[in-house]
Amino acid sequence: MEGPPELSFEAGQWVSVPLGPKSVRAYSIASTPRSSHRLTLCADVAPGGIGSGWFRGLAVGKTVEFKAPFGGFVFRRDDPRCPLFVAEEIGIVPIRSMLIDLDERGFELSATLLYWGRDPSWLPYHHEFLALTRRCPGFAYHPMVAAGDAGRLAARADALVSDTRDLVAYVSGGGAMIDAVREVLMARGLDRKSVRWEKFW
Ligand SMILES: Cc1cc2nc3c(=O)[nH]c(=O)nc-3n(C[C@H](O)[C@H](O)[C@H](O)COP(=O)(O)OP(=O)(O)OC[C@H]3O[C@@H](n4cnc5c(N)ncnc54)[C@H](O)[C@@H]3O)c2cc1C
Repeated sequence: MEGPPELSFEAGQWVSVPLGPKSVRAYSIASTPRSSHRLTLCADVAPGGIGSGWFRGLAVGKTVEFKAPFGGFVFRRDDPRCPLFVAEEIGIVPIRSMLIDLDERGFELSATLLYWGRDPSWLPYHHEFLALTRRCPGFAYHPMVAAGDAGRLAARADALVSDTRDLVAYVSGGGAMIDAVREVLMARGLDRKSVRWEKFW
């Protein structure tokens, strides 16, 4: 951060990057609030539009302008229910910030992460989550690498969840996946408000 020298935000929030008179793109902050002087973003550049082009063109030392923080997809620490995190590929970014933030704050992590990518290179932070499972016995990590689409995430969530009474879900990725996961969880008795989501595309 150059000006202001730091940014206070909540894990899960995003920055808005202006890319033209009428074009902005949102990027979730991958780093945690503990690092308020230096933010990390993480992008999938495959979509190939202006946001991807901007990311590809970034050079070391280049000054970047953005507005922040935005968004209500944040972890509620006063909610006693067990969180189920569901991420589709780059949708992991806000969830990564939430999980590492909880770990940094010394919360006893009792959470499940279900994470799909088409192949291993589409699972950023996978090794970090594996390390987290070794450190935090309450953290259950279910990576899924499979061709096809993220519809598989909904089927896996259906197989994984038996009781929704003590559950709150945080779902991030594409709209089709979010709808499918929400449908499955609601069919299991979870109310609509207990499925929180961030739609990237
Ligand atoms: C709240 C929020 C947070 C976001 N955080 C991130 C982030 O942390 N990292 C990140 O990479 N992107 C993130 N995005 C998506 C990002 O804003 C851009 O949409 C993305 O970078 C593509 O921009 P583009 O201009 O290259 O392509 P566009 O021209 O905007 O999109 C081209 C097409 O690809 C689709 N699309 C966009 N992204 C994806 C994707 N990842 N997979 C499949 N299809 C896609 C779009 O719906 C569109 O149909 C976020 C979006 C929102 C709303």
